[in-house]
Amino acid sequence: KANERESLYLVSEYAKTYFHDVLQNTEEGKAIGLSYFKERGFTDETIKKFDLGYSPDSWDAFTNQALANGYSLEYLDKSGLTIVKDDKKFDRFKGRVMFPIHSFSGRVLGFGGRILTSDKKAAKYLNSPESDIYHKSKILYGIYQAKQAISKLQNCYLVEGYTDVIQFNQSGIENVVASSGTALTPDQIRLINRLTDNVTVLYDGDAAGLRASIRGIDLILEQGMNVRVCTFPEGEDPDSFAKKTSNEELKHYLETNSTDFIQFKAKLLMEESQNDPIKKANLINDMIVSISKIPNAIKREVYVQECAKIMDVSEQVIYNSLAQIVAVDI
Ligand code: ATP
Ligand code: MN
Ligand code: MN
Ligand code: MN
Repeated sequence: KANERESLYLVSEYAKTYFHDVLQNTEEGKAIGLSYFKERGFTDETIKKFDLGYSPDSWDAFTNQALANGYSLEYLDKSGLTIVKDDKKFDRFKGRVMFPIHSFSGRVLGFGGRILTSDKKAAKYLNSPESDIYHKSKILYGIYQAKQAISKLQNCYLVEGYTDVIQFNQSGIENVVASSGTALTPDQIRLINRLTDNVTVLYDGDAAGLRASIRGIDLILEQGMNVRVCTFPEGEDPDSFAKKTSNEELKHYLETNSTDFIQFKAKLLMEESQNDPIKKANLINDMIVSISKIPNAIKREVYVQECAKIMDVSEQVIYNSLAQIVAVDI
């Protein structure tokens, strides 16, 4: 099994080098992939730092090159880089720009590939399939490049996408990782928690982004971490926002717009409930569940006081419900 994993690491490392080389040194790679990245505002330095690449728009150019270099079809198949069907072989990432996904210690585990055409039927991003080295629920995009900055600054920005991570780096913010569009998992949170207790969640400025992320946050609270959130204007994501603001403006925006998650959620839920008493009762329960996830009793108490104020109910009501949940939990 260890040998199998090693073979997967080797073929993934080869693919990373191949895609990066195609991007920088071939006519097609430069004309299509490199110009795409340049249009997004990525510099050569950024492209190197994240080992970005391009997979030629050919059915089997990558696979043939890998085979010619001695990599076996078995591991090309198992890594998902090649799709083997009957006796035919296809490059999974044909015609896409490539984002290698690194482990905490810097080994290439898999890839995300973005389509460049506006073909509505094809998925915008395609990822490596699960394998012995690529476990979607255990990886955070950018963790390898971010770990030193997270440690030093004692905070981690959590974003949705690959390009959010990259654009932030380019804006001088290096303590940033992406969950890559999936709901956050306990393993991903533990990865951050090795480095810091503080997370700032940055939503895309759309309703889907907000809803999806709110669900994941109770998990972060459960690990005893401190969570802040920062939203962006409607229609913006961290990438698009960072691209149009200066580094100083971005830093200032993040500092002034980050709010504690519990306060943020209480306010948001209050706005939603308007004055409907049934809705309000449900929302208060929802808040109490979030607070009950916090392991530290003193922190819980501070939040009870704040939520009582925001939601305009007595602290006693919150304590009573909380006592039930926490008693059951422990
Ligand atoms: P871009 O700016 O390149 O259009 P994005 O990162 O803003 O991309 P979102 O639509 O906000 O894209 O999605 C966030 C993340 O979710 C993506 O970076 C990617 O990791 C993942 N994702 C998006 N669409 C898909 C898809 N069709 N299949 C798998 N993963 C996806
Ligand atoms: Mn989105
Ligand atoms: Mn986005
Ligand atoms: Mn985007």
